[in-house]
Amino acid sequence: MSEIWVIAEKRGSKIHSSTFELLGKARELSEKNGFAVSLALLIEERPSEEVFDELFAGGTDRVVLSVHEGFRRFDFQPYIRVLEKMIREYSPEIVLAPATSSGRSYMPGLAALLDTGLTADCTGLDIEEVTGNLLQTRPAIGGNIIATIKTPSHRPQMATVRPKTFSPLKEKYDSKRELVQFEVEPELVKTSAQLIEFVPIGEGKKGVQDAEIIVAGGMGLRRIENMLPVYRLCKLINGTVGASRKIVDSKWLGHEAQVGLSGHTVKPKIYIAAGISGAVQHIAGMQTSEFIVAINRDRNAAIFNFADIGLVGDATEILDELVESLGAEVEK
Ligand SMILES: Cc1cc2nc3c(=O)[nH]c(=O)nc-3n(C[C@H](O)[C@H](O)[C@H](O)COP(=O)(O)OP(=O)(O)OC[C@H]3O[C@@H](n4cnc5c(N)ncnc54)[C@H](O)[C@@H]3O)c2cc1C
Repeated sequence: MSEIWVIAEKRGSKIHSSTFELLGKARELSEKNGFAVSLALLIEERPSEEVFDELFAGGTDRVVLSVHEGFRRFDFQPYIRVLEKMIREYSPEIVLAPATSSGRSYMPGLAALLDTGLTADCTGLDIEEVTGNLLQTRPAIGGNIIATIKTPSHRPQMATVRPKTFSPLKEKYDSKRELVQFEVEPELVKTSAQLIEFVPIGEGKKGVQDAEIIVAGGMGLRRIENMLPVYRLCKLINGTVGASRKIVDSKWLGHEAQVGLSGHTVKPKIYIAAGISGAVQHIAGMQTSEFIVAINRDRNAAIFNFADIGLVGDATEILDELVESLGAEVEK
């Protein structure tokens, strides 16, 4: 039976949320073409039964498990060799991986080994009715067009998807729970890479990706000191500070705060955009937010086309009013 494969992303011994988002999408696609869903998991030690329960309930029919110490830290070389072997053995029609730093590293190498195409950073996936080809949608030409890409004459069809683009299944999947142990020969996990130092990302650099509430500032704030009400509001509502690229390019904030095509894709419960115009490249990163509040002086600003609530006026004044109305003293 033809299959859709999802390559699991792990963080330490835990499975990253992007894996469940891709499983959710894979199940949706499988309903269209009747494909089974398999998950490839490369990990340093056999996971607990709870992890398997989570994966099966998350939407996979089968887990293809490869356990080796060499997978403790991500290393491009063992990854592509082991995945190539797995994929040649099972011949899936479609292979999906999250567009995380590791996914973005190994998927191009893997596609090259398999002599097939890869569409990176997809924002949409569907199945073409007549041909059964995977329709891979993503912004192209600097985000100015949305292109739908097909891989009609090579298999597997490979795509990466940014975390937070799709949603995990809402209900537990009733899986037939097939577990396959995939043995790796020592030469497959050999590497020429050497770990010199491991520097974890500091707390202060926590980015927007997993935030539930984001208050994002744009160039409409005009001066760096006008970011203050953004910080104050975040503090009051337990939000995370985000930004448009112009703010990051101006060095008011680091890249971890940037939302958009060349920044991060976010899916918070609430997204407040203050002084952001709504350029396509920004919208590409935040349009799946659950509730969007836009503040802009220009009532015709594009951001209002995507907002659930639009506030027309000066962003700094409106943010100050919001902070005040939430009971905080605003320094004048
Ligand atoms: C390949 C490529 C990738 C890109 N990637 C990204 C990306 O990841 N993220 C991103 O954000 N951009 C990205 N961009 C840039 C994008 O095209 C825009 O230039 C950028 O989003 C604009 O930022 P902005 O809305 O903050 O500023 P501006 O476009 O300058 O807009 C400022 C807005 O503030 C409003 N305003 C002015 N004064 C006030 C006021 N006093 N109160 C309230 N509102 C006011 C204005 O009406 C305007 O709408 C990318 C561009 C390219 C070509």
